Amino acid sequence: MRRTLNLFFATIFAAAAFVPTAIQAQSTPPAAVPAHAPYKNASLPVEKRVADLLGRMTLEEKATMLSGAGWMESAPIERLGIPAIKMADGPLGVRSWAGSSAITGLAGARLRVLSTSFPAGVAMAATWDQELVQREGQAIGQEVKALGRDMILGPTVNINRVPLWGRNFEGYGEDPYLAGRLAVAYIKGVQHEGVIASVKHFDANNQEFERHRIDEQIDARTLHEIYLPAFKAAVEEGGAWTVMSAYNKVNGEHCAESAPLLKEILKGEFGFKGFVVSDWGSTYSTAATVNAGMDLEMPGREPMRAWFAEPGTQAAGNGAGWLTADKVLAEVKAGHISEAALDDNAGRILRVIFLSGIFDHPHLGGGEVNTPAQAAVALEGATESIVLLKNFGSLLPLNEKKIHSIAVIGPNAVVARTGGGGSSLVVPKYAISPLEGIRARAGSGIEIKSALGVGMDGEAPEQDTPEARARLLKEAADAAAHADVAVVVVGRYEKIEREDFDVKTMDLPAGQDELIEAIEAANPRTVVVLNTGDPVTMTKWLDKTPALLDMWYGGQEAGRALAAILFGDANPSGKLPVSLPKRWEDNPAYGNYPGVNLKENYAEGIYVGYRYYDTKNVEPLFPFGFGLSYTKFEYSELTVTPYIIAGKTGLTGAVVSLKMRNAGARAGAEVVELYVRDGHSKIDRPAHELKGFRRVELKPGETQTVAFTLGRGAFSYWSPEKKAWTAEPGTFEIQVGASSRDIRLRAPLELKR
Ligand code: BGC
Repeated sequence: MRRTLNLFFATIFAAAAFVPTAIQAQSTPPAAVPAHAPYKNASLPVEKRVADLLGRMTLEEKATMLSGAGWMESAPIERLGIPAIKMADGPLGVRSWAGSSAITGLAGARLRVLSTSFPAGVAMAATWDQELVQREGQAIGQEVKALGRDMILGPTVNINRVPLWGRNFEGYGEDPYLAGRLAVAYIKGVQHEGVIASVKHFDANNQEFERHRIDEQIDARTLHEIYLPAFKAAVEEGGAWTVMSAYNKVNGEHCAESAPLLKEILKGEFGFKGFVVSDWGSTYSTAATVNAGMDLEMPGREPMRAWFAEPGTQAAGNGAGWLTADKVLAEVKAGHISEAALDDNAGRILRVIFLSGIFDHPHLGGGEVNTPAQAAVALEGATESIVLLKNFGSLLPLNEKKIHSIAVIGPNAVVARTGGGGSSLVVPKYAISPLEGIRARAGSGIEIKSALGVGMDGEAPEQDTPEARARLLKEAADAAAHADVAVVVVGRYEKIEREDFDVKTMDLPAGQDELIEAIEAANPRTVVVLNTGDPVTMTKWLDKTPALLDMWYGGQEAGRALAAILFGDANPSGKLPVSLPKRWEDNPAYGNYPGVNLKENYAEGIYVGYRYYDTKNVEPLFPFGFGLSYTKFEYSELTVTPYIIAGKTGLTGAVVSLKMRNAGARAGAEVVELYVRDGHSKIDRPAHELKGFRRVELKPGETQTVAFTLGRGAFSYWSPEKKAWTAEPGTFEIQVGASSRDIRLRAPLELKR
């Protein structure tokens, strides 16, 4: 650590002492800017404005734009009226932007903005509700503007590859199609408000362990089928204005220096026209970084230096201070960076400044955050995200007429655990714990008893002595024994499930397995609630658990949402966006993670999540897409009709339609999942892949027709031979169901060409 710090400072000081002659020589004052210069004219096309402005900039000014001026601000060029882009962390709401990403939580936030804490990404993914995610994005965009900022660092779309990744809670689960659809929705919502979204972390940031140094070996097909599609959708369909490069290396190169990723794939294949921002402190060179297609280094050299001076911060190596104007200009002078490359970088930043509208209509701030409308979106998300995993004997919803007392137990019941830790953790004005939510909903007719049960790891040493542990457990078991129902909320929290660290084990921490066992022994009418972003081991107690809910990290309104589900005010309609394996050893990356000597072979290839479990017949505890309901849905009348794709004469796609009926007595929503199976391909393909989904709200007895249009992408794989997406003519199977392992309807589709 000391060695890396010294290296870092050595770099910074060397840079500070260096004043290239090019800068001194070019000090002739640039031409004055006319009041009506074309770039100032909002009615001109953006490209004209960019070209005009670039033409007026000195080389120094362009180079200055490549490195941040603050922890969360790009460099302004006052002479030309180019504003700084003011950023704020996300993606789960607006986080304080002063201070490093390592400083989170109430104690650490130097600037408390008290904005809305939305459910974690994995929770929003469990809603499978694109329209709601778009509204969430819009609400976040409004808060960003209200606070006088311009850009939100989100969404996170990295794939949940291993159950131990410390940031699984931030992303949208294990399936690239689902993650892509939700990324598009989030970005559209944010950018609709004239706020810049930054989709992150490009690419394959799937673990925190050695995140600055790990070198992932990923073959081209796996990259294209698993780790790139969400970014592709974010750029091509969501129109993301910025992309954040990841800390890790892919195939030997740091992502910020990877021309294959940035130049060839992102800017080439995907046609990305915005700018690439580095993750904070993830650059290691000047010319190689610029030439690879990285546009803006964050943060600036000085804020990074200040960060290292703070006690308790972690060394990120020497990954900053490389794109400062002096270094960039020296490389231009030496011929290692062309002026065209510099124009491209600066031009991309300018393009986004114009496109987002912040040049013409700066965000002045002074607005309101956490408005009732924004909090309502957070509540809707939290409610829709809860997944009912088990409901033996219809214990849920609770029958208010029969229940006189509830014991609410657990380290995550009495404290609101809104999200995981790190740069995404929002400090809200208030957060409703499960206990508060249940107490408020139960009213005066139902007695609520509460007990901690166990102290959460690392929170209070006085709860961690053998005597204290025995006392807490006994208090909880007594409370459960004397109540009609026990609700045990277990999980992790922001200090042990967080950025910078992976979790060490899939097992619940702090003796919570024993707590569940003790409560179940005391009261057979026990509801277990999971409050975590990662899958956890449940095999010790699950057989005896009558009812199980997954509430993820549900943001500030989670307690209220949980109460609504427990009492049946809302029907549980969430579905798992990630398979829950029985044990970590069953996960396909087991044995490959966390790599050897800082190299990690993604040897499981495309077989991630259900693509592995369903193909290799490994039974998960709960499959991808699974979620029960208080009502019953019937699927019928599947029809699949090939059609000729417009403009591509001869190529076929398909229209799929089916009928969905709510055959139960309660209103509720069902997520209909569409999978495509390719049984005839030349190369190995997964048993099936998600290619469509729809959340359908149905009243009791109501029937709706649900239709999907499948384009070529739904039938294609990425061919390493052709280096392109390929659909092979032949017979595919269209599957429609309620989870990856509960296919209700099937029909063949003949793809002629
Ligand atoms: C995280 C990013 C975050 C950035 C700024 C980094 O450590 O990986 O997700 O946006 O810090 O806080």
